[in-house]
Amino acid sequence: MSIKNILQKDNFTRDDIIALLGADNPTDIELIRNKAEQILLDKCGLKVFYRGLIEFSNTCVCDCHYCGIRKSNHTVKRFTLSKEEIVSAAKWCADSGYGSVVLQSGERSDPAFVDFAEDVIRQIKSATVSQSLPQGVGITLSIGEQSLQTYERFFKAGAHRYLLRIETSSPKLFDSIHSSTQNLERRITAIKNLKQASFQAGTGVMIGLPGQSAENLADDILRFKELDVDMIGMGPYIPHKDTPMSIHTEYFNINKDKIFQTSLLMIAVCRLVLKDVNIASTTALQAIRDDGREMGLRYGANVMMPQVTPVNVRRDYLLYEGKPCLDESSEELRKGLDLRIRSLGRQVALNEWGDSKHARTAEKPRHGGVFCGT
Ligand code: SAH
Repeated sequence: MSIKNILQKDNFTRDDIIALLGADNPTDIELIRNKAEQILLDKCGLKVFYRGLIEFSNTCVCDCHYCGIRKSNHTVKRFTLSKEEIVSAAKWCADSGYGSVVLQSGERSDPAFVDFAEDVIRQIKSATVSQSLPQGVGITLSIGEQSLQTYERFFKAGAHRYLLRIETSSPKLFDSIHSSTQNLERRITAIKNLKQASFQAGTGVMIGLPGQSAENLADDILRFKELDVDMIGMGPYIPHKDTPMSIHTEYFNINKDKIFQTSLLMIAVCRLVLKDVNIASTTALQAIRDDGREMGLRYGANVMMPQVTPVNVRRDYLLYEGKPCLDESSEELRKGLDLRIRSLGRQVALNEWGDSKHARTAEKPRHGGVFCGT
């Protein structure tokens, strides 16, 4: 079946998804992009939601083979921001009209870390309440696998969205890029636990992993659907020199353009299949091309995560090489992004949590029934 015919359908089979992801001529790619943009505008509207990204600690107990801050990388200078620094970054977001923040860190689940994170969530909530944000900023967490009880504590403290990528839906590929202490089943259980703890859950994968096929990527999208997540964050896999997977640097350099294009198609096809979820246009896209994140928006993404981590520690949070936005102030980054979003004919949403329409239309609201500023 031609791409044009596939795009006329409302529900897509695995074979349809594989064909869409494999599109390789400019006419077909533009047809897919255009359709994804139509669905986005129809289901979610013109608004792009900001989540100020606070990378608050690079200490990590995991040893993921791809990640620059893995436990065994002893060249990394480890840091954890103070509570005051984190709250102040969140306050800057609230004062600048960003309706939400993302708190991201390496993975730890020891009691001291859980207490720390819980307290930070509480403090951010109370420090960011204002007339324009009556319930404070929306808080998304991205701090790895935790127990159900811990997720419940974080939700109670005031966080309401959580990102936990499955990285790939293929157990074999998952095992090949992680240490033996990690497994896909546990990751999936954690996502189910997040939903049980009332979180809006997000997941995603890396694109362009050595050995990853179009079938794997199609299965990733079907897995997202099955998990019924509210948010997707995906990006290209980019090698980091101090990791075991740096042996694939040449593979990456040779295939960079293709990986970039496939990443954009993944965004578009997720939009076609999942329809009303929030999809982030991630920084890793910008690591390959300067306008990578704008391209992500054009292919159906509607969330951006502008960097607000204090400049003095940004270089110590390098998950991959060539990470952009290391030196500019939060204010400079913000102005640049605002302009770029408007030049695409889209709108910057101010003072809104920007929950996904998918979460809002869920039969049983998973956020206590409260939405802010929308
Ligand atoms: N520790 C937390 C969050 C930090 S990592 C967690 O595990 O959820 C956030 C995401 O960065 C990871 O899920 C992974 O998909 C991505 N990432 C890590 N290393 C990367 C690399 N080399 N290239 C591209 N993305 C990478």
